[in-house]
Amino acid sequence: MTLREQFLKHVGQTSPSPLMIEVERAEGVFFHSPDGRRYYDLIAGVGVNNVGHGNTAVIEAVQQQAAEYMHVMVYGETVERPQVRYAARIAELLPEGLDSVYFLNSGSEAVEGALKLAKRATGRTELVSMRGSYHGSTQGSMSVMGGEEYRRAFRPLLPDTRLLDYNDFDALRHITARTAAVIAEPVQSEGGVRLPVAGYLEALRERCTEVGAMLVFDEIQTAFGRTGTMFGLERTGVVPDIVCLAKALGGGMPLGGFVASRETMSLLSSDPPLGHITTFGGHPVCCAAGLAALEYTLEHDLPARAEPIGALYESLLSSHRAVQEVRRAGALMAIELGSREKMLAAVQGLLARGVLSDWFLFCDTAFRISPPLTITDAQVADSAEIITEVLDSL
Ligand code: PLP
Repeated sequence: MTLREQFLKHVGQTSPSPLMIEVERAEGVFFHSPDGRRYYDLIAGVGVNNVGHGNTAVIEAVQQQAAEYMHVMVYGETVERPQVRYAARIAELLPEGLDSVYFLNSGSEAVEGALKLAKRATGRTELVSMRGSYHGSTQGSMSVMGGEEYRRAFRPLLPDTRLLDYNDFDALRHITARTAAVIAEPVQSEGGVRLPVAGYLEALRERCTEVGAMLVFDEIQTAFGRTGTMFGLERTGVVPDIVCLAKALGGGMPLGGFVASRETMSLLSSDPPLGHITTFGGHPVCCAAGLAALEYTLEHDLPARAEPIGALYESLLSSHRAVQEVRRAGALMAIELGSREKMLAAVQGLLARGVLSDWFLFCDTAFRISPPLTITDAQVADSAEIITEVLDSL
């Protein structure tokens, strides 16, 4: 049996049409298959590999930490240097008051923890979220998913949830003294890169403060330079009560986390104690990798690269007759083609020519470009040329 046949037989999949490309190795903005083909990775693992594949700083940190110690004791009991140093560094970079990080393994778990903390902190139950947002695949995070299509089959989910339209100022009145948390993204990613209109996040913050609801920002795709600032929240200066992180947080290793004030976070340690626990969350190798990736991001000022990368793609693609619109925040981009058929033809055409792109869960008329932030201008131009050739054939 070939590896692909074994993949289909023994590896569980939920994608009805997996890409089926065998990965042999990856470096920088490329990955390679054993048949000698090279692919541009213009997705970066959906915002994971901001520092590029095979980043030597990350590899060295992983190797060193794996040799020193891996898992020792369930999370939060022993003092583990990579965790402590990483949490302290994140706290230093986030606005004041967001100074306590609870590490987990994934984005969905970070959202679970954040929502539980908000319920615990407010004593309320209602969870408000935005249409067009994806927050994870566990039953709690799915309960605040911004669309019915992917969750209908799994109901009943959490009770007492409410969906609002992103950017609808009038809808903010539905956030009330019953609301425990409002979860939103500083830029909606799976909605097809939807930016907040001027004043919207400020008004959302104000409404949450007014009624005593906790504002949770899902920064799982927007953090670590992707949108042109280290965290997406810096785009407006709106400071939430809780921030969810994952994806690039681990520098390519599995890591998630939610961040709150020390005072708020401590609520999870009493009445009941162990309000959230995890065996593997904050694994020392993952934290060492994440910290190395963060230091690399700072040293090479990758947040400052996101805007020129995005602007160059935009200038090379936006005037193409097949492109209706380029929506973007830094290097988080949606190339709007106006129909699902065109989007699918583009994604498939790109793959056939060695460029990995993707669509969005809540926008199937646009394809995504979110490359590693280490991509050079020449690589942007070269990949944009391939994209243009594919668009020509639509
Ligand atoms: N939130 C956002 C904005 C995401 O894009 C994702 C994953 O795509 C998640 C949460 C869930 O993260 P994970 O897949 O690590 O559970």
